[in-house]
Amino acid sequence: MVDDLEIIRKMEKQIGQKLERSTGLEAFFSKASGAYELGENGNVEKLTLASMGLKEMPSSIFKLRHLVSLHLYNNQLAILPKEVSQFKKLERLNLGKNQFGCFPDEILKCTSLTHLSLHTNNITNLPRDIIRLKNLTFLSFHDNTISKLPQEIGQLTGLIECRLYNNKLTSLPKEICWLVNLTKLSVYDNPLKSPPPEIARKGIPAIREYFYSLEGKKQTLNEAKIILVGDGGAGKTSLVRCILKKQFRKNESQTHGIDINKWEVKNGAKSIKVRLWDFGGQEIMHATHQFFLSKRSLYILVLNAREEKKAEYWLKYIESFGGDSSILVVINKIDENPSFEENRKFLTAKYKGIKGFHRISCASGDGIDKFKEHLIEEVKQVELRQSLWAENWLNIKDKLEDLTEHYINYNDYQELCDLEKIETEQRTTLIEYLHDLGIVLHFKNLAHKNVLNPKWVTEAVYKIINSKETARKYGIIYKDEINKILNKEEFTDNKLDLTLNEVAYTLDERNYIVDLMKEFELCYSLNKNRILIPDLLDVQEPDFDFDYENCIRFKFDYDFLPHSIMPRFIVKMHEDTEGNHLWRTGIILKNKAFQARAMVIADDHAREINLYVNGRQKRNYFAAILYAFREINNSFEKLTVKEMVPISNDSQVIVSYNHLLVLTSEKIENFVPDGSDKQYSVQELLGEIQIIKPEENEIMEILIEIRDKLKSVDQSSLMRVLEVKPNFFGVGLDLEPLIKKVFTKITSK
Ligand code: GDP
Ligand code: MG
Repeated sequence: MVDDLEIIRKMEKQIGQKLERSTGLEAFFSKASGAYELGENGNVEKLTLASMGLKEMPSSIFKLRHLVSLHLYNNQLAILPKEVSQFKKLERLNLGKNQFGCFPDEILKCTSLTHLSLHTNNITNLPRDIIRLKNLTFLSFHDNTISKLPQEIGQLTGLIECRLYNNKLTSLPKEICWLVNLTKLSVYDNPLKSPPPEIARKGIPAIREYFYSLEGKKQTLNEAKIILVGDGGAGKTSLVRCILKKQFRKNESQTHGIDINKWEVKNGAKSIKVRLWDFGGQEIMHATHQFFLSKRSLYILVLNAREEKKAEYWLKYIESFGGDSSILVVINKIDENPSFEENRKFLTAKYKGIKGFHRISCASGDGIDKFKEHLIEEVKQVELRQSLWAENWLNIKDKLEDLTEHYINYNDYQELCDLEKIETEQRTTLIEYLHDLGIVLHFKNLAHKNVLNPKWVTEAVYKIINSKETARKYGIIYKDEINKILNKEEFTDNKLDLTLNEVAYTLDERNYIVDLMKEFELCYSLNKNRILIPDLLDVQEPDFDFDYENCIRFKFDYDFLPHSIMPRFIVKMHEDTEGNHLWRTGIILKNKAFQARAMVIADDHAREINLYVNGRQKRNYFAAILYAFREINNSFEKLTVKEMVPISNDSQVIVSYNHLLVLTSEKIENFVPDGSDKQYSVQELLGEIQIIKPEENEIMEILIEIRDKLKSVDQSSLMRVLEVKPNFFGVGLDLEPLIKKVFTKITSK
């Protein structure tokens, strides 16, 4: 019998590379891309031949009859030879990042497999016979072009984790509910319709509840939400009136919160229920509005032909919240400025959501009919309209929308569910789904109340934020004062219907509004009696010292910098505020545990946020801050943010963080950055900011994936990978040793 080690030697000749012998998982991963590990009987049990450019498996591999784990990650394999079926003991097979154009059926004979990775290939579908691999617990097919899953997948009852993100799936088979052991299912970045993405995002329990709910009577939603955006005074409210055939008003009063108008659109025998959301207020209100600016709506951007153009600002704004939702651009007031135009071709090419432009006048009625015709066509196309709903879920939705209360508590919601015979397990999924669709506001922390009337909340927030009192005190306000503000009619043009001596907001409600503002990340408590609204802080930067020597520098470079980012960051990190060193666009942070200090400054004009961290554990503190920003950035539907590393002693030179990671994975040790005439060590630059710590061994695998993926992925995919484990950058965790192993060891000699 041939010794396994002899086979390894032969294999080294075949592939022209030495393989390292390693022990233990860590060593196995951290060393060269070629390695093997022996089992107790001296047989090769694990073999890694990664990133070697292999076009086929070296033939000697099949003689290793005791292989349990085989990693052929990042090669150029497109087919597997029949001999693969000889691996009777093989449990783990990683063929990720190869050239497979279809599922290699040869694998189906390796019935011991528990872990199978075929991610990042060009696979278009999975065979039904996959059920032969009855022992599978882990399946990874992300980053392929799979458009459909076989329903047989429901028979792989051992499955615990299944990664299917970034494929072309439009639906999941309902049989997926049968997988009782499945606890992790990632299906983001798929054009899913059933289950809807809002449900799919929540994971397997919600998906199960959704499919179960559809076992009874069901129907399509047949509703659409239209959201009007644009500068105050552009004519949004006037346009809504035109759509509803109401008379034009020369002096339309300003909208302060949200106005929601109902409209019915005839569609054959049935009519589509449409709600027109007319948003008022200035930028600061967008933190509140974000919860109603749902994806999968239809947007109307109203531009004012009388004023300077701001079209791109609003188009980016819509994208950041609405993703790829359809947009109709309306140039209003052409009666006053008939020559005003936008570069239609340019904008349409840049913003994929744009479905058309219309020149109109709400005053004269010019262009309105044609616009309305187009609008009706687009309403029929709204994707959400075709989504399937269980009839009782739909009933709940209708009942909630028709309630006259401003809010109800969870018990009342439960009662409604009782009446509709909605299973207890489905109730959370349903209310969260309604929140995601912008129908109710539901926050876990505030589950005792669910807000039904968006106007009620936005109006209150508007009043607090715009009160002269709050502005005068730079955003610091006593809770008693809120009483005065909310129950005084400062905004006379938008009166609440109050009878004498009646208050609009009770104490309980006022506290609730403040709690909601905290959820919106609009404010935080300074102490029991006072809150601070960072948006209203003094504009003036206070005096302070900061030691720029040896600090970590970092920059977020935004294509569009939403106004709410910096205030939200301040709210998130407020516990670390150093004294009164905070102003409207910046903050100095100090953290005892890390013995570190940070300066964070937003530059609205340059659309960037600059970060400086120094102190003993600056890297870890930096990691915490980075994580906070990523969390905020990721909460937008679509936001382009570049993470940049300025080179400390050469302030003109800046490199993207991603680029440094790519250089590392390409094993490039030194480089001359653009704009500099000096060489820098990649490792040194990265060394300043590197930051990851494992919770468990499994993370190693993810890190390796990140490292290898970085060659081709963009920022957002990296975020996704990191998102898999949100605890990566937890405060107080020291992630350095591991990241070093995975990222930097490959460059060291
Ligand atoms: P909103 O803030 O975007 O809701 O804008 P409004 O609908 O309240 O309109 C602002 C002002 O512009 C009001 O006084 C309207 O009467 C006026 N307005 C709206 N559309 C037109 C238009 O097409 N032509 C003219 N001349 N005035 C308009
Ligand atoms: Mg208005």
